[in-house]
Amino acid sequence: MPIDPRLPYDENNIFARILRGELPCNKVYEDEFALAFHDIRPQAPVHVLVIPRGPYVSWDDFTLKAPDDEIAGFNRAVGKVTRELGVDRPGYRLMINMGGHGHQEVPHLHVHIFGGRQFRCMICD
Ligand code: AMP
Repeated sequence: MPIDPRLPYDENNIFARILRGELPCNKVYEDEFALAFHDIRPQAPVHVLVIPRGPYVSWDDFTLKAPDDEIAGFNRAVGKVTRELGVDRPGYRLMINMGGHGHQEVPHLHVHIFGGRQFRCMICD
């Protein structure tokens, strides 16, 4: 079910539990600001999620609340992961879903990295 992004951060959401090491993930990268792991239900040959370590529900929550070093560090981590995955050539797609209309299911900010095939339509229902 899509979530309401203005609800308070849920400390027990599945990605918070992965960050605390309570649940496993198939990790591809981590640093001080971010953790990246393979999506459990991949929708492309490469489908990786990058999440900030801090408790942020959405992009607006993150960019309006997080300190500058966290914002810079997280964005840099997304870039590093795309290079490490080797999707930067021939190309890839980033996606962030927010709230009900965005069909966000997990209430912890996550950037989807899709790669490994040609993408066509920008938005498909
Ligand atoms: P969204 O609709 O943007 O909130 O996407 C949530 C994504 O999290 C979906 O693509 C799920 O397949 C993925 N997901 C849910 N649980 C896990 C998990 N335990 N490990 C990895 N990916 C997950």
